[in-house]
Amino acid sequence: MSRILIENSRVWQEDGFARGQTLVLQDGRIAGLKPPAELERQPADRRIDGRGRYALPGFIDLHLHGSMGFDVMGGSPASLQGLCDFLIQGGLTSFLATTMTDSAERIKAALRVLTTFAERPGTPFLGVHIEGPYLNSAYRGSQSELHLREPKREEYMPWLSTGLIKMITMAPEIAGGASLMRDALAQGATVSIGHSGADYDAAARYFAAGARQVTHTFNGMPGIHHRQPGLFVAALENPDVTFQIIPDGIHVHPAVVRMLARLAGVERVVVITDAMLATGLGDGQYTMGDAVVTVKNGQARSPAGDLAGSTLTMEGALRNIMRFCDLSLAEALPMLTRVPARSIGMYPQKGSLQAGADADVVIWDEVLGTQATFIAGELVYQAKGQCAAAIADA
Ligand SMILES: [Zn+2]
Repeated sequence: MSRILIENSRVWQEDGFARGQTLVLQDGRIAGLKPPAELERQPADRRIDGRGRYALPGFIDLHLHGSMGFDVMGGSPASLQGLCDFLIQGGLTSFLATTMTDSAERIKAALRVLTTFAERPGTPFLGVHIEGPYLNSAYRGSQSELHLREPKREEYMPWLSTGLIKMITMAPEIAGGASLMRDALAQGATVSIGHSGADYDAAARYFAAGARQVTHTFNGMPGIHHRQPGLFVAALENPDVTFQIIPDGIHVHPAVVRMLARLAGVERVVVITDAMLATGLGDGQYTMGDAVVTVKNGQARSPAGDLAGSTLTMEGALRNIMRFCDLSLAEALPMLTRVPARSIGMYPQKGSLQAGADADVVIWDEVLGTQATFIAGELVYQAKGQCAAAIADA
């Protein structure tokens, strides 16, 4: 039995914030909101004074390769733990560890480590997003050309049967793409189209056949032309399709991020970081798989000059998208919480503070950012200083 009371905060309630009520976390789940007077004499393991702060569902990043020198590829349980320890400081409570185009052995090895790591309680690791190797080489960006290949069942079925794969980014137009898409959907993975040259008609067919997301929209695909509307317009016309976007102001111009949010609506936008291992470390040269990536002014680029992921965090992404799109916290928040959760079939268990949801909660300060992070009702991170005094073991 564990019971945590978050008092005096503004609590996210799906379309705005509730005030004057206490959020109760009970045995790893959200128990709901209660009037403070009702709870005064009741026992609690912890009371948190959230005065002047928000209680938000933890952020969910469906597309993240690494941070702080740790990479999902070539990782160990210790390096994954290091990655998780960094992510929770930024209010992230769920992420999909995103693999890269690489050799069969290296992808297999990464999945083996992730399978072991999945057993650990209290981490934000939610599952795996397979990005590549089944991509269109013309739109590969910084993904390894050497290791791009056609999908073969004997290679990908063992991946899918780990039960960890929540999402796959693929170019359905490549040979074998249709079978891969069918198999991935049958295993319950969300199919996201990306690093793809699919034209409008083909893309409309893939969405009708069950693809449900666009990977880092506008990056790794042809742009919009009035006679060749392409993947983006086909996706826009299908209300079941959601759009990943990297709001770092580098991958996509802020005006285009704003256009996407207005055209598709925030309920169809999934904010991702696409963060790579240099995130949190700063400029320099980094090795990723076979490639050397140079980070300058926060921009990660391959030797050919292609963008190689971002150095964005979810906190930065939230602030940016509010600014780019002129949105309030309440308007922007779904793009980092319920929309990603829903797009992988995990809403309202994740991405919500409704009764019954997993108690994945962030105490958020508008100026200071993340002050405390809970995963499944466990306090996994607490900022030093001001907020520390406000969390008391009762
Ligand atoms: Zn990519």
